[in-house]
Amino acid sequence: MCKKINFILVLGVISIIVIITAVSLLFFTTLMPAAESDGTTPVAQTSITKAAGTGHLAQNSPESNSAPNGKSNPAKETARKAFISEAEILIKDTHYIKASLLLGKALMDFPEDKEISVLNDKAENLEKQLIIYKGKIYHVFFHSLIVYPELCFTGDSMEQGYNDWMTTVREFKLMIQEMYERGYTLVDLRDLFKIDASGKMVRQDIYLPEGQKPLVISVDDMSYYKYMEKDGFAKKLVLDKAGKLASLINTPRGDEIISKDGDVVPILNNFIEEYPDFSFKGAKGTLALTGYEGILGYRTNHNNPDWQKERDAVVPIVDKLKETGWAFASHSYTHRRTFSEGTITLDYLKYDTDKWMNEVGSIVGTTNIYIAPFGATFRQNDARQRYIVSRGFNVYCGVGPQPSYILYKDNAYMERLDLDGYKMFHMPELMKDLFDVDKVFDPARPGFK
Ligand SMILES: [Zn+2]
Repeated sequence: MCKKINFILVLGVISIIVIITAVSLLFFTTLMPAAESDGTTPVAQTSITKAAGTGHLAQNSPESNSAPNGKSNPAKETARKAFISEAEILIKDTHYIKASLLLGKALMDFPEDKEISVLNDKAENLEKQLIIYKGKIYHVFFHSLIVYPELCFTGDSMEQGYNDWMTTVREFKLMIQEMYERGYTLVDLRDLFKIDASGKMVRQDIYLPEGQKPLVISVDDMSYYKYMEKDGFAKKLVLDKAGKLASLINTPRGDEIISKDGDVVPILNNFIEEYPDFSFKGAKGTLALTGYEGILGYRTNHNNPDWQKERDAVVPIVDKLKETGWAFASHSYTHRRTFSEGTITLDYLKYDTDKWMNEVGSIVGTTNIYIAPFGATFRQNDARQRYIVSRGFNVYCGVGPQPSYILYKDNAYMERLDLDGYKMFHMPELMKDLFDVDKVFDPARPGFK
């Protein structure tokens, strides 16, 4: 009798252990992939990884063969629901391409699932059904990004200028993430204005998937000027081992490295690879180039004895930029202060434009975009404005606080908003449609005067 009771007790204990083990296993199967995230992944991405991960784990378990739709398997059903709810959030946020990619992955795990395929059709249709956008068009611009604030903000005579007119890598990444989450998508400046059949400048309609808002980006002075060399910026745009655009940088320790986080171009290219909805039909930005110290970190200026060698080296970079959706603009050859003072003579402007055409335009190709140095403007009937238009530059960009443009008879004027320290500190309200300055502002900046 006593032995019998002992036997029942032992059996009971074993059963409890088996049940606890089974429950723990199920628990970890559901949560482990989320725990693998490194914590730096954006929110949407984390949940996608989790959903996809649970899907695969469930599929690899032996039970999955007997329950292809997953509905009779709790772990698999959790994964299926995670896919669906994540995709619904992406669709609500106008991220149709991203939703479709996720649902495509889900259909590999749940090939017969009707709910997933209906949702996938919905995402694909929303992406294809374009409507005319009627709202404001923001054109924002940057200079080369500050990679190492500790090398840039050193209390020397350059500090205040950098603090005012530059943006850090950290800020830029937070800005594009938030603009993406708010439904902005990059459009190509070259598609906005056209001369119509009667010779008049008109704005082209912008067609976008429902709910998305256009954003134009430009980057000024991407020359990596010599004066910036030791101040924590990249020094050249290069191709990495995989043939992708990257930045050549000197680290604070003095090592030369190739980085994908060194400036606007590689950061944006990589971001759009991950979040394709941030670009409409592959549009990126416009690079506003001067020529007096060459372009993109290559000293292609003809007063450099090695300019031909430098030119040969930059051609593949320019080709790659074009291939990945980037456009070019003239930012004048000399960037002379007389532009901002309004005292530049017509003769000097002719000399400057010829130099740009000869030394920069000959490498990057023809462009109709003039991004004025210092945002300087001329009156429409001013001989200097007439000259710029006569040289084929019929889209003229300045600097201004509002997202606006003006159509003149034979050219268009567009204002651009600088997303830099000065504007973030003094006029954060100008960016409230785009992002929350408090979340973006880099604490590594020194105080403002
Ligand atoms: Zn400039």
